[in-house]
Amino acid sequence: MFTRCVLCNKILSEVSRDKIKDKVPEYVFQAQDKFLRCDECGRVYWQGTHWDNAAATLQEIIQ
Ligand SMILES: [Zn+2]
Repeated sequence: MFTRCVLCNKILSEVSRDKIKDKVPEYVFQAQDKFLRCDECGRVYWQGTHWDNAAATLQEIIQ
């Protein structure tokens, strides 16, 4: 499980599903039951098989 934000390198904190329901894609919300959030940038993380690719894509977009 990821413990740090890939953007801020801050420690992630667990967040309840109902708080991030409108922040993640519907299929992700349905498939996952544990979410983490970065208090610094507000990005929500979840455990997924394509996490590495998603993180790389996100960084490319921001940069
Ligand atoms: Zn962050």
